[in-house]
Amino acid sequence: MSAMLIDSHVNLHHQSYAEDREAVIARARDAGVSRMITICDKIENFPQVLAIAEAHADIYASVGAHPHYAKDHLELTAETLIELGRHPKIVGIGETGLDQHYGFSPFEDQMQVFRAHAAAARALDKTLIIHTREADEAMGDLLEEEAKKGDPLRILMHCYTSGADLARRAIKLGAFISFSGIMTFKNANDVRAIALETPLDRIIVETDCPYLTPVPHRGQRCEPHHVADVQAALLKLRGLGEEEGSALLAENFFRIFPGVARP
Ligand SMILES: [Zn+2]
Repeated sequence: MSAMLIDSHVNLHHQSYAEDREAVIARARDAGVSRMITICDKIENFPQVLAIAEAHADIYASVGAHPHYAKDHLELTAETLIELGRHPKIVGIGETGLDQHYGFSPFEDQMQVFRAHAAAARALDKTLIIHTREADEAMGDLLEEEAKKGDPLRILMHCYTSGADLARRAIKLGAFISFSGIMTFKNANDVRAIALETPLDRIIVETDCPYLTPVPHRGQRCEPHHVADVQAALLKLRGLGEEEGSALLAENFFRIFPGVARP
C-alpha cells in the first residue's frame, strides 16, 4: 500500500480547473490522495465550493472570505457564517486572516472580518483556517485576544510563511501549522527552519493549488496530487520514513479536522 496523502487546502473552484476539474480530482485519487478540503475565498463563491464537496465523498469544504476580499465582506456576520457553516461537509471557517503584503483590503477591515470568522468557528466548534502574511505581531495579538474569550479555538495556520515568534505564540494556543510547496523552494530557508522547529504533532501539509507548484514541477499548474512532493520534502526535512511520517501527518489532519471521516 502506498503512503497516505491528504491535501488540507485546495482551491478546486478556481477558474484554472474549469475545463478539467473532474480529471484533476481523478488524478489526485490515482496518486493516493484520500481527503481534500476545498477552500472558500468569497461568500459569493460558496455555492460552487459546497457543490464540489457535496458531489465527492472524499472532498470537504470551508466557508469564509479571504483577507484580500475583506473590504467586500464588511456586512458578513458571524451569524451568516454559522448558518452556512452548519453543513456537515463544512469542516473549516475561512480562509480568513491578515495580509499586509498585498494590502488589497484595509487592515481594519481584515481585522473586523477575521473576528466574525473566529466567533463562528467558536460557535460551531469548527476549525478556523488562517492566512497570515507580514502581519505577525497583529495576528499573534488577535489570536491571544480570541483565546481570552472562552474555550480554545481550533486553529490552523495555513501555508505558513510567517516568523518563528508568531509560530510559537500560535502553537502555545494549540494551533496546527500547515506547510505548502513553498517548503521546496530554493530560497525558503526561513520556512524550512519553522518546519524543523514545529512540534511533530502539530504539522500538516497542503498544496494551496492551483498556486505554489512544488519543486520539481515549477512552471506547471499545481494540482492536489502534488501534495506528494510537499509531504516528501517535509518528511525528508524531519528525518521521517514515508510510512511512519505519512501516518503521523494523517493523524494530525484528523485531529485538527475531526469533522472529516477517516478512510
Ligand atoms: Zn491563503
